[in-house]
This record gives sequence, structure tokens and C-alpha cells, in this order.
Amino acid sequence: MKNFDEFSKPEEYISPMDKHIRSVIRNWADKEVMPYRRKYDEDWKDHHIIEPAFDKLMGNSGIGLQKALFPPELGGWGIGQSDSAFTISCALAEEVGRADTAMAVAFMVTYWPLTTILVEPHVNWRLAKEFAPMFCNAEKAVFAANAMTEPQGGADIENLELTGGKTIRTVARLEGDEWVINGHKLWPTNSGGVAKLFVVPCTTKPGSTDLKDFAMIFVPAETKGVTQGGPYEKAGMAADKNSDIWFEDVRVPSWYRAHGPSMDAQIFREIIPWGLAASMGFMCGAMLNLYEILYDFVSTKTYKNKPLKEDDHIASIIGRIAGDIDICRILSYEAAKMGDRRNKPYGYPIYSDEVACKMRNLKDFVSDRAVDIFGKAMDVLGPYGADREYDIEKHWRDIKIIQLWMGGKQLCQMEAARYFFNCKTL
Ligand SMILES: Cc1cc2nc3c(=O)[nH]c(=O)nc-3n(C[C@H](O)[C@H](O)[C@H](O)COP(=O)(O)OP(=O)(O)OC[C@H]3O[C@@H](n4cnc5c(N)ncnc54)[C@H](O)[C@@H]3O)c2cc1C
Repeated sequence: MKNFDEFSKPEEYISPMDKHIRSVIRNWADKEVMPYRRKYDEDWKDHHIIEPAFDKLMGNSGIGLQKALFPPELGGWGIGQSDSAFTISCALAEEVGRADTAMAVAFMVTYWPLTTILVEPHVNWRLAKEFAPMFCNAEKAVFAANAMTEPQGGADIENLELTGGKTIRTVARLEGDEWVINGHKLWPTNSGGVAKLFVVPCTTKPGSTDLKDFAMIFVPAETKGVTQGGPYEKAGMAADKNSDIWFEDVRVPSWYRAHGPSMDAQIFREIIPWGLAASMGFMCGAMLNLYEILYDFVSTKTYKNKPLKEDDHIASIIGRIAGDIDICRILSYEAAKMGDRRNKPYGYPIYSDEVACKMRNLKDFVSDRAVDIFGKAMDVLGPYGADREYDIEKHWRDIKIIQLWMGGKQLCQMEAARYFFNCKTL
């Protein structure tokens, strides 16, 4: 086997669009990203090299993927209305992540806030119509962001089941027919001046644990009172810009709230599994690329005049690596299936505790395996593992970051303990 498509995925529920979409993105990745990605680290601030590749992936001058979630009536492809939206997203995350997981997150986080208003059964047609031209009519890449994390802690905000939103300090006050928003967010993917549209998880009553007071409000980036800092310099993931965003008496129409009291909290609990499933897809993409690079290395490098892969010690390591990739891919598609409406074998709704805890558990597991096998691959590659020419060290830096986001490892483990052991206070 050399063809990485042969790593297991459950073929019977893969969307009919899967093959076509994959081949288009693979072609883009091989031409527009793979030859240049080594230079991305130095381009972290300006995105001179990175931006044209995004335009070709997302804008109408290229593949046009940024409009995919919008309904066809509004100029999109209708993926938000598909029964397989999660599974399709997993394939997109994998294919873009194979080339560059930071590009994958920047592109897919554009879908993230939009899932709240474009995915059945919660399509908000008024907001969908409002924002469709921004994404569907653009020649160049247009990004969105989910501005969730705050300086005092991101994990608590994601831990809505336990905190009920009481730690959130970004406040929205209704004045007439406008929301007035004040607060400070950190880290959102596509901040640092990239995104044109934010969704802002916030509270309408500071300190409240009543989920009716939790709100998700859309804010166009150029609205008066929105200020963004410059991008942070990270260990990797140069194609994803992260920064501070300050909201100071920012006013938006009252109907920019995604759905309203209670429903916004439910929708927030639905977007968490989206982020977790996509994170697994990114890691699978990076692992598939690791396999491609490692295959060539162990087949062509020799030890005692035999290819490296014929050495028993090396074979046991690369066998474990390939085995882990196979298992992680199965788990990632199984996680996507928990999110999809189609063939729902797990039987519980996407906003349930079951899905939150099981997806966090799977994301934590796949992250750990990915971090481990990149370490093992570097042991086999020796100094070539650290050589930028080989692109392994790039993925190695990037996937460690995926392990840390979305509440970090502890929140994943706390949620698992809470569900499986009926813990009440974690
Ligand atoms: C590349 C990148 C992209 C990101 N993209 C986004 C984005 O798009 N939108 C966004 O809003 N944020 C984003 N983030 C932020 C990220 O999701 C947060 O950093 C993460 O949720 C952790 O929050 P925190 O950094 O505030 O840490 P804290 O919540 O302060 O946690 C600090 C430490 O305490 C641990 N901890 C937290 N809760 C518990 C608990 N209950 N029990 C035990 N230990 C606990 C954590 O695991 C961590 O080790 C991104 C971060 C990175 C690096």
C-alpha cells in the first residue's frame, strides 16, 4: 500500500460528493500549497505567500469553498442542508490539513460561526440572506471567526454544562432594537485583521447561570468599536492568525443574535462538536501526509544494504505508526457520524452531553496518537525529521497546537470523567 486513500474510513456512509471534492482539493494542495508551505513560517505576519493560496481555495476566482454551507437559493452549494455535513467537513479538513493544518483551521473556522445559522434544522434565513453576499459573491477568500475565548479562561466558556456561562465577561445589553456589546476576546482563529465577520458568544446578564442569558451575536469586523491586535507569533500554524479583539460599545441590530434565549446555548453546544470533529480531520490529514513522507524515506534509505523498512526494529515502529493512522481515521469518521443527521446510529442529539463528552474524548485520543506518532516518525527519520526540507517538523509543531486548543486536554478528560463516572462538580 502506498495510496493513503486506503487507510480505513466507513465507505457506506461517505457522501457521494466525497471523491470529487477530494480530487479538486488534492489538486489545489499539490499545486498551490505543498511546494511553498516551507516558506509559510516566515510569512506568519503578512501572509503574502499564504493569501493567494487561500483565494484559490475559498474565493470565486478558485474553488469557491467559502460559500459551500449556504443554501443554493442564496448562491451556495447547500452543504449546510445536507444530511452528511459533518462527514463532508471531515473530508475537507483532512484534505486541506494534509497540506497545512493551519490553512485547514483558518478555512474551516470560516464555516464555524456560519454553522449556527446555515445548518439544518436551524437555518436562520434572515441572517443567511444578510451574510450570503459577503461570502458567495467574493472573488477572494473571505473569513469568519468564532470569538469565544476570553483572557480569564477559554475552557470555562466551553464548559457550558457546568458553568452555565457564569464566567463570561463579554456583555451584550439590549438598547431599543440594538445590542450593545462590551468585552475582550483572545485567540480566535482569523482574528488579527483577517475575518470580516465574528460570532461573539457572550452574556446578557453577567454572572448568570441561566442559559437563557447566554447569547451568540454576529458582529461584522468593521463595526465601530471593534479593535483587533496584531497576530501572535506561534510555534507553528503560520497560516492561522490569532489575536486580541476588543468590543467597546459595539452596536449591531437586535436580529443579529443567532436564535435567541435558550436556543443560542443549544446552538453553542452544537458548534463545539463541529470544532472537535474538524480538529480530528486536521490531524488525520497531517498523519496521512506523514505516511507519504515516511513511506518514501524508509523505502529508499538503506541499512546494511537493505531498505530501512526491512529492518525488524524499524518495521515494528512504522507498523505501529500506520496502525495508529488507520485507527484514528476510523475514529474521526465515527465522530463525524455522531454529528451527522444521516444514519444516526448513536441516537442522541448533537447538543447532548453524550456527544460533547464522546467527541472530546475522541479528539483527545486522536490528538495524543498524532503527537506520539509524529515523535516516533522523527525517531525513524533521525536528523531528517528535524530538517525543514522534509516537512515533518512543520506538522509536528502544528499538531501539538491542535492538541491544546478547544479547552485543552483537561477539559476533554473532565468531560469524559463527568459523563462516564457521573461526577457532579468537575
Ligand atoms: C491556534 C489556536 C487557535 C484557536 N482558535 C480559537 C478560536 O477560533 N476561537 C476561540 O474562541 N478560541 C480559540 N483558541 C483558544 C483556545 O481554544 C483556548 O486557548 C483554549 O480553549 C484554552 O483556553 P485558555 O487558553 O484560556 O486556557 P484556560 O481555560 O485558562 O486553561 C488553562 C489551563 O487549565 C486547564 N483547565 C481548564 N479547565 C480545567 C478544568 N475544568 N479542570 C482542570 N484543568 C482545567 C486547561 O487545560 C489549561 O491547561 C485558539 C487557540 C489556538 C492556540
